[in-house]
Amino acid sequence: MPPAESSSGSPTTATAPPPDHSLPVDGRGTASSGSAPAPASAPGSSAPGGGDLELGWDYAPAPESLSVAIEPKYGLFIDGAFRAPKSRKHFTSVNPATEEPLAEIADAGPKDVEAAVAAARAAFPKWSRVKPVERAKFLFRIARRIQERARELAVLETMDGGKPIRESRDTDVPLVAAHFFHHAGWCDKLAYAFPGRTPRPHGVCAQIIPWNFPLLMMAWKLAPALACGNTVVIKPAETTSLTALRLAEILQECELPPGVVNVVTGGPKTGELLVGSPGIDKIAFTGSTEVGKRIAAEAAPRGIPLTLELGGKSPNLIFADAPVDQAIEGIVKGIWFNQGQVCCAGSRVIVEESILQDVVRRLEHRLGTLRVGDPLDKNTDVGAINSPQQLETIRRYVGIGRKEGATLHEVNGSRLPRKGFWCRPAFFTGVQPSHVIAREEIFGPVLAVMSFRTPEEAIARANDTPYGLSAGVWTDKGSKIFAIASRLKAGVVWCNTYNTFDPTAPFGGYRESGFGREGGLAGLRAYVRLDG
Ligand code: NAD
Repeated sequence: MPPAESSSGSPTTATAPPPDHSLPVDGRGTASSGSAPAPASAPGSSAPGGGDLELGWDYAPAPESLSVAIEPKYGLFIDGAFRAPKSRKHFTSVNPATEEPLAEIADAGPKDVEAAVAAARAAFPKWSRVKPVERAKFLFRIARRIQERARELAVLETMDGGKPIRESRDTDVPLVAAHFFHHAGWCDKLAYAFPGRTPRPHGVCAQIIPWNFPLLMMAWKLAPALACGNTVVIKPAETTSLTALRLAEILQECELPPGVVNVVTGGPKTGELLVGSPGIDKIAFTGSTEVGKRIAAEAAPRGIPLTLELGGKSPNLIFADAPVDQAIEGIVKGIWFNQGQVCCAGSRVIVEESILQDVVRRLEHRLGTLRVGDPLDKNTDVGAINSPQQLETIRRYVGIGRKEGATLHEVNGSRLPRKGFWCRPAFFTGVQPSHVIAREEIFGPVLAVMSFRTPEEAIARANDTPYGLSAGVWTDKGSKIFAIASRLKAGVVWCNTYNTFDPTAPFGGYRESGFGREGGLAGLRAYVRLDG
């Protein structure tokens, strides 16, 4: 069923925009700031160790061709139906790769949030008493429908958020389905999950999510909440509401009882209204540390259970005995996946000094092969930055890094599309641990590379951060993995891999990165109170 907002205008059909052949969108060659730009060259021409083949080969454009219908105007999903906002306010959501408007999104005001919370509250008694095995069927059905509509969801996610279609198609959407499948399996096993205790749902969960993984964060929040018998009011980020609304359509298709999930779109004000609502029983927030602290201050005096998934400045440690080629790919995945707009991005690479030069040389080569541009092109590695505000933040940090005396290495020789929000992937060398670019979260495709001489120094440098979300360790030695990983102050430590996710593995941080877990048994704990 399409969203039934009473809006004028007919649905627009958005397809992948035709590739602009006048604008090569790939990056070729790298240059350090201050040095002369390297000439553009063909793939393979700058392979380490030589090879001067100038074959002039390039990838042909491979745009995703699926047409996705987008309504001109969306309402709020409350009590099982799409409704015009009582606030009568809308804002425009744009495609960050083209700056073209995609749709008008409802800006929920006080009465809208109140109505959504009331609907969730009214639905709670019945939903929490649905037999667990029947609840599981809803989650399973949602997971299957997500799989059936996967391509459409991936295209929409890419158009709304700017991430490469390869990532939304191969990572985000499959993981979204996997989270619902995983939690479908928990519904009728909850009674055994916490031995000697009786788990009971909290009631109405207020959930607030960011723009970097809109659909995935929604799945991380909804699936465990529903599996445990809670009802939900969720607020997506203002720049990425479209897939949340599309998932609401899927919930309708799956005949989830009205009021069990409600979607209120809007900006920070809507988030504040939701957090301040007297009708909520639990808050789950993913976003910046700054906002997380404000929410904690609001929730604590009211005794509301809270989970916070916040920012990070995660270390990725490369030891001299690591399989270097794999480690390079781990660095690439750690910092250039989703344009570096990842809370657990491996944004501080700390390399054993004896291999530093080799790693930098290989990384420079690999950086030169990344294709930056049209996110809907299946060959694109690095897409658009989500918003002009985020682009401005990244540029400011790049300026700070230069002023601090670090050397910038960036993709060179490419022309970026004229429209849209673009940032060339880059890394800094000559970074000191005291530099701002080594301490603060940039949330963009910009890496700080540093070095260490001894394992003790590696651990000290890795832990020298107020955050504690994730870390990476690259070494050939199993014993070293355990020795190092156990001393890293991070909620998640990846060994000889990075940015790898699975619904069975709990994810979350501590210190300034928040508290509480999402995924696995630990993730369920956040959505139940334990009696007995
Ligand atoms: P943000 O905190 O500005 O916004 C996140 C969400 O909170 C949005 O929906 C926003 O509208 C809402 N919001 C903003 N102010 C609010 C307020 N006062 N009260 C209630 N809601 C409010 O963060 P962002 O810029 O959207 O996201 C980037 C940040 O999120 C980064 O710091 C990143 O590390 C973090 N993040 C963390 C994780 C994780 O799992 N740890 C995952 C993704 C993003």
